[in-house]
Amino acid sequence: MTVASAKQALKKYFGYDQFRSMQESIIQRIYQGKDALVLMPTGGGKSICYQIPAVTMEGVCVVVSPLISLMKDQVEGLRENGVEAAFLNSSLTSSEQQSVEDDLYNGNIKLLYVSPEKIVSQSFFPLLQQANINLFAIDEAHCISSWGHDFRPEYKKLKFLKQQFPKVPIVALTATADKITRRDIVRQLGLQEPKVFLDSFDRPNISLMVRPGQKKFEQIIDFLRVRPNQAGIIYCLSRKNTEEVASKLRKSGFKASAYHAGLPDKDRSKVQEDFIKDELEIVCATIAFGMGIDKSNVRWIIHYNLPKNLEGYYQEIGRAGRDGVKADTMLFYSFRDVMVLRDIIQNNNSENEAVQLSKLERMQQYAESLICRRKILLNYFSENLENDCGNCDVCKNPPQYFNGTVIAQKALSAVVRLQERVGVRMLIDVLRGSRRQELLQLQYDKIKTYGIGGDISAFDWQHLISQLINLGFLEIAYDQRNVLKLTPASKEVLFEGRKVNLVKLADIKQRQEAEKAKVKTKTVRERVRDELFEALRELRRSLATKQGIPPYLVFSDASLEEMAAKRPLTEFDFSMISGVGEKKLKQYGAEFMKAILDFVSKKADEGVKMKGVTQLQTYQMYKRGFSAEQIAMERDISEQTVYDHLVQLYAKDKDIDIKRFVSTKELKLIIGVIRSITPPFKLREIYEALNEEIPYHKIRFALAYFYKS
Ligand code: ADP
Ligand code: ZN
Repeated sequence: MTVASAKQALKKYFGYDQFRSMQESIIQRIYQGKDALVLMPTGGGKSICYQIPAVTMEGVCVVVSPLISLMKDQVEGLRENGVEAAFLNSSLTSSEQQSVEDDLYNGNIKLLYVSPEKIVSQSFFPLLQQANINLFAIDEAHCISSWGHDFRPEYKKLKFLKQQFPKVPIVALTATADKITRRDIVRQLGLQEPKVFLDSFDRPNISLMVRPGQKKFEQIIDFLRVRPNQAGIIYCLSRKNTEEVASKLRKSGFKASAYHAGLPDKDRSKVQEDFIKDELEIVCATIAFGMGIDKSNVRWIIHYNLPKNLEGYYQEIGRAGRDGVKADTMLFYSFRDVMVLRDIIQNNNSENEAVQLSKLERMQQYAESLICRRKILLNYFSENLENDCGNCDVCKNPPQYFNGTVIAQKALSAVVRLQERVGVRMLIDVLRGSRRQELLQLQYDKIKTYGIGGDISAFDWQHLISQLINLGFLEIAYDQRNVLKLTPASKEVLFEGRKVNLVKLADIKQRQEAEKAKVKTKTVRERVRDELFEALRELRRSLATKQGIPPYLVFSDASLEEMAAKRPLTEFDFSMISGVGEKKLKQYGAEFMKAILDFVSKKADEGVKMKGVTQLQTYQMYKRGFSAEQIAMERDISEQTVYDHLVQLYAKDKDIDIKRFVSTKELKLIIGVIRSITPPFKLREIYEALNEEIPYHKIRFALAYFYKS
């Protein structure tokens, strides 16, 4: 097997022109019959690594996957692309199983997905022996490691594959890359001299943004208003939050539902299904949501609360933008969340409490970062990003500093006067001169610094104090009800004249304004494109519903975006869209092109200037069988113009049948003349050389033909 045939299959079945970074070498490795371990982030394109060998090699590829809910989806996706695929797991009736087994036995399947339980079962073994297996792909291979989070005991038994089928290569794939897990996978599966393919875990299409955890709902609404019709997930810490947020969103006119472990199974599957089918836009969920779904067009993720650690956070935001199209994320950060999470960790009495606390601290550092967030994130996963990413809030709007020494002195001296016995909230109340009952009872209104910060809002004080904490001028004593303590650095500020630079708070508001402004400045062209995208999305949804499959299996958002931008109207142009393979071209091409043409014509009628639209109208009539003369009459343009269009369309590879305009004999004649003269070719010259007997438009077609061949 060669790379060339792999590339051909990539276009034929999946409609892609290029392999992504490592896919090609992984496939080559498999062609050599050797084992491989593939570590790629979610959305990195792991499946192609075994699907291409499966369709190009003799026999069948057996894929072990622990996520039963995903198997059906994956198999449907493959069938949509014209690949014979099937799955075997406990969700099938015995007669369904029988029929798949027959197909396997008869060699009618290129990819078979099986659950770990099934593949290790005694009864399945004889069948495996009879099948002509070309590759074992172990998906979610980290499940083999009892160190990991998704340990599956059956995975340990997969050892037998190498023992019983020593000649069949194994490719193990996972998005969990830590070293212990890696070692476990290699050892447990008995991989032979496995080559490890470690891809970058960066997901550059996912934007990163952290916002203060105040007025969250308003911020969410602002965020959603500029992202109409986009699917997303809001992760919350508590079940109660999920329900509250969902219900508020519904009241504001959004399609939103809650999802958490406390709901009946039936309700949960309904939420999941509606979300997958693009019928529900927003899911407000606890972290459990998302594992069993492969939806590639999740466009945004919001974290309503701070996640426990960066692993979890990265996994959750990773559910957005799997199709490679731009996706946005927003994390709300507040001290309160840190404290709640600390309490949870400390009350769990788990043995690795210290580890969990330090992971939480890293999470907090990320949220408070004043340098490129992606750098911090990748750094955490032992990867270095050379340049700033340009796609996080810090990069997009670098913080501006001001001299905050006086502000720092006010806050710190209040902490001194309060004898380091209060937390953030009380400190702010004292600084602002609050008349709160508790404060008065404690007689904090009597201390010298009471009310000296009344000119700054409580909201702003929150930010200023968290900066002081991050800069090491204050510390939170987590073991003493989170009271604020001074540090050696704070004494330098108070007594030794040390200067403090703080970040301007206006930034936060500016950022929000900047985001709103960005949306307003869309060009007409962009708006037209968005509108067409929506029309195509609607078509995709209705086609998907008819067949009972998720819309993203018809075409990904990436494909629709390309269609909306390029507006292909011929089979050839349509087949050039990324994601359009042979089967999809045949199955959906006509309907999508019709929708594009309808849209384009409608826009032109509305007077929107569309590049090439008048040509397209000519083309449309041509396709319906009108002659040039009829088109000219009908459209009230000159016949000359119609020929102009047709020649240009022909030159652009549209499927214009040149024979309808020039006979083969005439063509030969004209080409003969063209060959006999030296360029540049002048129409008049050719016309005269042909004794002025052949009309100009035929000569122009012939010239176009000449240039093309
Ligand atoms: P993973 O399993 O690693 O999470 P997938 O295999 O589901 O990722 O791939 C993610 C997305 O990227 C899918 O929509 C897939 O079709 C697309 N994809 C994979 N390889 C390519 C490629 N070479 N060119 C374009 N898109 C690709
Ligand atoms: Zn950045």
